[in-house]
Amino acid sequence: MLLSTALSKTKSHVNQIPKDGMTKFIRSIAEEKHEAGQPFYVLDLATIERLMDKWHHSFPNVKPHYAVKCNAEPALLTKLAKLGANFDCASLQEIDTVLSLGICPNRIIFANPCKAISHIKHAAAVGVNLATFDSELEVDKIKKWHPHCRLLLRIKAPSDIGALRPLGKKFGVLPREFEPLLHYACNVAGLKVVGVSFHVGSIAQDPTIYREAIANARAAFDVADYLGIPKMQILNIGGVFRSSTPLFEEIADVVNEAVKDYFPDPNLTVIAEPGRFFPETAFTLVTHVIGKRVRGEKIEYWIDEGIYGSFRPTLYNSCFVGIKPLSRQKSKESSQIYESTIYGPSCDSLDAVAVDIKLVELQMGDLILFYNMGAYSKCAGTMFNGFDMLSVPTYLVQTNSS
Ligand SMILES: *Cc1c(COP(=O)(O)O)cnc(C)c1O
Repeated sequence: MLLSTALSKTKSHVNQIPKDGMTKFIRSIAEEKHEAGQPFYVLDLATIERLMDKWHHSFPNVKPHYAVKCNAEPALLTKLAKLGANFDCASLQEIDTVLSLGICPNRIIFANPCKAISHIKHAAAVGVNLATFDSELEVDKIKKWHPHCRLLLRIKAPSDIGALRPLGKKFGVLPREFEPLLHYACNVAGLKVVGVSFHVGSIAQDPTIYREAIANARAAFDVADYLGIPKMQILNIGGVFRSSTPLFEEIADVVNEAVKDYFPDPNLTVIAEPGRFFPETAFTLVTHVIGKRVRGEKIEYWIDEGIYGSFRPTLYNSCFVGIKPLSRQKSKESSQIYESTIYGPSCDSLDAVAVDIKLVELQMGDLILFYNMGAYSKCAGTMFNGFDMLSVPTYLVQTNSS
């Protein structure tokens, strides 16, 4: 069957399956709709519901603005919107993606501190009226093209030694810049700065970073009070929350405690920009074995997804990904374990997905499942070497325990 037909057929349909029925469902989709060369995703919407409950339990007073860059799958965005989430967009395109789903512009924060003028004009035209900034030039652009936009001052989070990709250099103002920039934005340009925003940099390992960042935000609020700026009301604590570790609860405790200590004012609105928190564990990537070479005691496999698709090494953090081989027919399962390497389909020799791992022996056409593949995966797809990794389709399931 043509991939495009499969796409249009599956997009909106939600398959109800029992909690332990995932493997069976994946086998049936592979059997009926996908030849080798046509990888696909399965999104379990029940996981998104469960994670929203988890969020509210740990952060009862923090409104999530899902960071669209992490995974812009429309069914995911629609589900999150239904569950009450708002959205963090960084570009014109992301704003349009969210609006095209019928979501109101007042549920979007334009959380990119440095925006192209065309994108600012677009935000103004469609009514996205909350954005972040961290420089005088950004103030000038916003004053000229979107003067009624409400602003959050993006401050630098304390250096996060544990972060995999610290964003410290690129974004955020330093404490000594609070006063001149707030003065410029509010008193010179006449814009409305209504709060403070930070983002601790990917994969924070140390929850106390959040407490320090919240203390810094307090200092910015104090500078605003001192400058006579109308009372700021929003604290945006950014993202980098991970649903699959106990660190999440620890971070939530630290944040809730710090907000209580530094912001006793009950009128403060606290928001966050979780990206990976929601999609990471909800998506399973299903690939096919398209080639195989046995070399002594080792086996090499080629599959139909690689680093120019969902496995972009700069974005993707492999430590939570689970690999499960699945023979196409249950009866042909092998139990012999070999040291194995899995390559992606392109001709780039760097295109390896997993090197020297232990796997049972697989045959051509067998499936390899990758769990926890929902974060920074399909959004990074390319057309490199002619392999279309932009339009890997997603099948929707709703697993239920009964
Ligand atoms: C990328 C990003 C996020 C989301 O980060 P996660 O680590 O996926 O939670 C949130 N806020 C900003 C400003 C970002 O750039």
